[in-house]
Amino acid sequence: MEDTNSQGDSQVNHPVAFFLMPIDILKGVHEELSEILGPDVASKVIYNCGVRSGKNIVKDMNINFPDLKTLCTTLPELWLQMGMGVFTIEKLDEKDIVLKCKESNEAIALGYTGRISCDLTSGYLAGMISTIFNKEFTCEERKCTSKGDSFCVFELFLSK
Ligand SMILES: [Zn+2]
Repeated sequence: MEDTNSQGDSQVNHPVAFFLMPIDILKGVHEELSEILGPDVASKVIYNCGVRSGKNIVKDMNINFPDLKTLCTTLPELWLQMGMGVFTIEKLDEKDIVLKCKESNEAIALGYTGRISCDLTSGYLAGMISTIFNKEFTCEERKCTSKGDSFCVFELFLSK
């Protein structure tokens, strides 16, 4: 459905839509931003893009949970369906959340980098969890298969 606002610009009211893309695009984004900005700034920019996207998806899909138990069973399934990877929740309370991910698609895309690398995923998790809990969370990846660990571990905690 298309509307026109007061400036005459066209606005499309779209349903939540997904598109499939090869994971190589993730690698291309990482490589290009890293080349232009340097790896540390690129990492932060990609993380921030993830935060914005994670906040938007929760609002657009109207994702909410009646209780933590429902959230624990539903979120990993949602992340799997979104193609982010196979997540398990290791710890979850309203201040600290630890997630383990086997087969992070971002890490698979990047291959071995020798460093913690799932910046978009980290940001996306932070954005989603912040919006679901209506509190600002930061996500730090503690282990990463791109660094040589056997799985990725993400910790989310309340931002200071
Ligand atoms: Zn990772």
